[in-house]
Amino acid sequence: MRKIALLGATGSIGRQALEIVEAHPELELVAAASGSQDVTRLAPLTQVGGDLTELLDRAEPDIVLNAVVGFAGLPATLWALERGVTLALANKESLVAAGDLALAAQRRGGGSLLPVDSEHSALHQCLEGRGPESVESLVVTASGGPFRGKTRAELEDVTPAEALAHPTWSMGPKITVDSATLANKGLELIEAHFLFGLPYDRIEVVIHPTSVVHGLVRFRDGAALAHLGYPDMRVPISYALTYPERAATPVPSLDLAAGLTLEFSAPDLETFPLLSLARSAGERGGTYPCAFNAANEVAVAAFLDGRLPFLGIADAVADVLAAVDGAPARDLDDLVEADAQARRLLEPVA
Ligand code: NAD
Ligand code: MG
Repeated sequence: MRKIALLGATGSIGRQALEIVEAHPELELVAAASGSQDVTRLAPLTQVGGDLTELLDRAEPDIVLNAVVGFAGLPATLWALERGVTLALANKESLVAAGDLALAAQRRGGGSLLPVDSEHSALHQCLEGRGPESVESLVVTASGGPFRGKTRAELEDVTPAEALAHPTWSMGPKITVDSATLANKGLELIEAHFLFGLPYDRIEVVIHPTSVVHGLVRFRDGAALAHLGYPDMRVPISYALTYPERAATPVPSLDLAAGLTLEFSAPDLETFPLLSLARSAGERGGTYPCAFNAANEVAVAAFLDGRLPFLGIADAVADVLAAVDGAPARDLDDLVEADAQARRLLEPVA
């Protein structure tokens, strides 16, 4: 039996995780949490909002599936890593914001960190535990979102409803807007850097509109391994919860005879500046990724509320990155302050 604590149980990932857990008698849901909706009937121990580490202390899970959205997921990520409890991580924002602290916690705890983000699950599978020395580069694919092919001028007046119409994935609102701006790929670039230990110039983002290839690893011997499958988050969720067993899922396997064309192209960095902003925040290191994430969270919320235009999201993030010093966080207090400082800088606009 594996005891699972599911944080963010009412969200897009959370609901799909419940389906996976229900299908496997050896997975036992011992705790469930949400930000605001009722979860009392989902698990023996539940919590709505507040400090989720209190729930984790009581539940003593074998696996924490962190599917909270945003920086709010950080304490749970650190709780699991510090204790060597397996962390199935959907909450990429916590790893982006706290990368160095999170990896230090993992080294102390000695447990596993299994990505749930589909691209990183794909890369994890292609790598099979091989270290950076045998790898030439990693490729993270992006659908390009609903605005692929548009110009900046065409994006001036887009509405939240248009940004929320994602072509290939059905997800929560924050990550869906991040997919429309390509901030999601920016977060994923930083996430890949911390998960797999490669420098940024060896992690590439390519546009691949149908989201069939999720990730690809180029090895030093000239071989490249890719991970293919229909876009369905139940696959990476199941992979993380049943690792290394690779349990069955209801997702159909890939039909090649029906005709499958795989298209790739370079991202349009001019129209979608958040991808370049994330790359430079990652390269500069310290608390720049934390500031990138915090500014993006505030700006996306303001866009969804109708207080900021679509293109204003990238402008807000660029302004914050130009204003902060990015000094490395020595501890969690430093990091929380870097996050808060970035949010304060956007108070006047967002
Ligand atoms: P969502 O908005 O659908 O759900 C978010 C969940 O987090 C909800 O259960 C909500 O109640 C909970 N939550 C929010 N604030 C909280 C707080 N302060 N304390 C406790 N719980 C809180 O989001 P989602 O699409 O399921 O995404 C969740 C995470 O997974 C995000 O980090 C996202 O980037 C990542 N992710 C999602 C997908 C996807 O397909 N949805 C794919 C890859 C990665
Ligand atoms: Mg992803």
